[in-house]
Amino acid sequence: MEQQKQDETGVKEECQLCRITYSIYSNFPPMPSAMALNAETGEWFPFDTLKSYSNGYDMAEALGYSWACDCRERAAKRFNEQFELRDSTGKRQARVRYRIRVGSRVLAKGITDAQGRTQRVSTGNAKQVFIDVAGS
Ligand SMILES: [Zn+2]
Repeated sequence: MEQQKQDETGVKEECQLCRITYSIYSNFPPMPSAMALNAETGEWFPFDTLKSYSNGYDMAEALGYSWACDCRERAAKRFNEQFELRDSTGKRQARVRYRIRVGSRVLAKGITDAQGRTQRVSTGNAKQVFIDVAGS
């Protein structure tokens, strides 16, 4: 049995888009009569609404460009992951028996495909996902 560990620290990091968006709009003075445009829906909304959000992503979403965000997208993928198994020399481990688990809870097991990929699993907000591979 060989064991591989996924370390999942740094989840909370924001992308540049979110950071810059937040630094711009959180510093605006109150402008009760100003309106802002959602570029995606074409709808106008009170500009001051932006200042009520606590993070840049919500602001970007209100403005209609949250699709350009990097950090939330990454976070979403993290919860539905597919693993690519390689041995210590970097060679893909195709057609090997594997088991994906969090602690003692087995999330999935099966045999990797020709590219050494596992099936997609929802890892929840698990800090560490373990993958056991049957030794060849
Ligand atoms: Zn972001």
